Amino acid sequence: MPTSPDALVIVDVQRDFLPGGALAVPRGNEVVPVLNRYLAYAAEHGWPVFATRDWHPPDHCSFESQGGPWPVHCVADTEGARFAEGLDLPSETMVISKGTDPNREAYSGFERTELEERLKELGVRRLWVGGLATDYCVRQTVLDGLRRGFDVRLLTDAIRAVNVHPEDGDRAIDEMIAGGARPATLEDLP
Ligand SMILES: [Zn+2]
Repeated sequence: MPTSPDALVIVDVQRDFLPGGALAVPRGNEVVPVLNRYLAYAAEHGWPVFATRDWHPPDHCSFESQGGPWPVHCVADTEGARFAEGLDLPSETMVISKGTDPNREAYSGFERTELEERLKELGVRRLWVGGLATDYCVRQTVLDGLRRGFDVRLLTDAIRAVNVHPEDGDRAIDEMIAGGARPATLEDLP
């Protein structure tokens, strides 16, 4: 694959995180048409596309049944773990599975995955990150990307928050920006 300074990173846009799913993010479905516009742009400009996904074993430590905070969600190879219907991921999308170890939570797409290595192989320096959820996996993926030296653009029109506490999403956005992420929307594409 040719190198590219930019990559689109789509975080956890999986059925269990959409309304009606096992761990629904309110209005999570609204990111899909917006992300499709970013995907069209990425295709037009030769940007590589990465899609992270929760890919848990049935006894994952984050599940309430195991003493964790969340209902069972995104169990590997189940319907709920599939990417959202209507999300136009190209066939060459690089899928990054995380949270595969039963004993470890992994909100970040960088956590014990090959994401960083793959990005570096492709010469990527700038990440355009959107998806679900703002206050968990988007937040952690963005902060980890910044820590690893990537220039990170947070796609504020293509994220939604869980908001266990009503301000969680807004706080997470503030934290990502304070950490060096720059907010961006479709209009800011180069
Ligand atoms: Zn999970």
